[in-house]
Parts: sequence; C-alpha cells; structure tokens
Amino acid sequence: MIQETTQKIGVYPGSFDPITFGHLDIIERSSRMFDKLVVGVLVNNAKKPLFSADERVRMIQNVTSHLPNVEVRSFSGLTVDFVKNEGARVIVRGLRAITDFEYELQMAQTNHTMCPGLDTIFLTTDLRYAYLSSSIVREVAYYDGKIDQFVPAEVVPLIRERCRLLKQK
Ligand code: ADP
Repeated sequence: MIQETTQKIGVYPGSFDPITFGHLDIIERSSRMFDKLVVGVLVNNAKKPLFSADERVRMIQNVTSHLPNVEVRSFSGLTVDFVKNEGARVIVRGLRAITDFEYELQMAQTNHTMCPGLDTIFLTTDLRYAYLSSSIVREVAYYDGKIDQFVPAEVVPLIRERCRLLKQK
C-alpha cells in the first residue's frame, strides 16, 4: 500500500549515466508539477556504468542545486518499491522518439499492474534534446569529441577524466 501523504511527490527514475541536458530539462519541468520531485538513480551493476551510483547522485545534486524541491537518491530493485517507499504515486519519464514508446508503455503498464495506485506520466522531450542520450554522450566523449552541448558544464571534466582512465586500462 502507498502511504498517504499530503505532499504531492513525483519520482523520476533512471540510470543517468551521465545526466544530460535532456534529463535536466525533464527534472526542471516536472519539479514544477510536484511539491517534491525525487530523482531515483538506479544501481545497475550489470550495465557496467561509467559512474557509480553515488557519483551519479552527486552529479545530479550539483546540477539541480537551483531547484529546492528536488531530492536525489540511489535505489536498487524494483522501481515500484522505491516509489512506494518515497510515498509517491507518480513516476515521471521522458519520451524522445517513437522508439522510446514501446518500452516505456510496457514498463508503465507493468508498474501499474504491480501497483494499481501508481501512475506514470510522460513529458515529451524538448526538441533541442530529442536526439540526446547518455550512451551517445559516453561514445562521443570516449573518442574525445566535444560534449559541452550535451551535458552541464560541471559534468564535462568528470566525464573527460573517467574516459581518460578507461583508455589507460
Ligand atoms: P533508463 O536506463 O531508465 O532508460 P535513462 O537515464 O536513459 O534511464 O533515462 C531516464 C529517463 O529519461 C527515461 O524516461 C528516458 O526516456 C528519459 N530521457 C533520456 N534522455 C532524454 C532526453 N534527451 N529528453 C527527454 N527525456 C530523456
């Protein structure tokens, strides 16, 4: 059961490996719809992330410090369990292209079936970021391409450094 709370809380879950301007845009827009928005950083070691969950949490905290009602936490396990523990009823997800749709619909319906009190809302991407994904950023950065237009300035040197270390291996 979802705990009753007077606050309207939304949860925006994802990998955010690393956070991009596309994610940040969804965070800014959805934070205006709730009293509190919790960004949930999925711990998924099977995916071999570029950054640890704690690193991703710190990065997102840094770039959302201008948004007082945004909190950032990592979680593992089922998203629905994390959302329930946060006392929220709404999952926020971003939609870019039609290719996102099938997976997102499947996840939303699965989560709603597992927890009928819970709904997923979708925000369409800002056109400026419609093509943008974390994996594209990782790839461009790995080959020393310019990434300033994809991720917040604070995050750029962290990605550069991590790619440098990766190549040394
Ligand atoms: P996941 O591994 O859960 O897909 P991501 O970090 O890739 O995590 O994405 C988290 C959410 O943000 C997803 O709903 C995804 O569709 C959305 N998203 C990713 N990039 C963008 C973007 N450029 N514009 C809008 N939404 C985006």
